Amino acid sequence: MNRPIILMLAVTLCAISMPAGAPSVWAQQEIGVIVVDLQGDFTTLNNGSLAVEGTDKAYVDKVAKATEALKNKGYPVFATQDWHPEDHISFYTNHPGKKPFEAIKIDERTQVLWPPHCIQGTDNAKILLDNGLFAAVVKKGRDKNFDSYSGFKDDGGAKTELDKVLKEKGIRELIIYGLATDYCVKATAVDAADAGYKVTVIEDLCRGVAPETTAKALKEMKEKGITIKKDLES
Ligand SMILES: [Zn+2]
Repeated sequence: MNRPIILMLAVTLCAISMPAGAPSVWAQQEIGVIVVDLQGDFTTLNNGSLAVEGTDKAYVDKVAKATEALKNKGYPVFATQDWHPEDHISFYTNHPGKKPFEAIKIDERTQVLWPPHCIQGTDNAKILLDNGLFAAVVKKGRDKNFDSYSGFKDDGGAKTELDKVLKEKGIRELIIYGLATDYCVKATAVDAADAGYKVTVIEDLCRGVAPETTAKALKEMKEKGITIKKDLES
């Protein structure tokens, strides 16, 4: 083949793979960051009512530093925020005779009963990072009848606005970390993968409620095709 024909072929192929009117799709293959539930009630730093082991100042500082670095690299950063009414179904105090961490059946769902936490408007419901870092903060667990480990939807299937805000930013790929590995990080990562995002969870920026459930969660996430990285550098 002579040169003009090869050139013409190349131009045609380009035109086929990048049709006019679609360049924005190609330009928007962006990576977003989701910081899950980094709130006072989940940390030992703030004497939280549901403090996850290992969530001292060093941990929170490490998450803050990593999040700032990612934002400075240009990644849009999002946060989820557990945000319950006082009469929320997940609080053991709303089930007479029940103890914290007991699991009960509600309709067909298993509900773990937690100490009251992240009550709307309280100090320990606040996110511990500078709110200026976030492109959006998505609240979850607002319906008293349903728990919501996932940032995408609650146990009743009601969607939050998370998927919508990610799509608006053209996000295709997600870096996820926060609290807790075995509950809200896992549920958010799994729902993200199910929604078609390419997901990486940063293990060292997460902490889990219990070692067994954390190991199980990491295994389940890997089986879902989610990449687990030890830290941001690895
Ligand atoms: Zn909660």
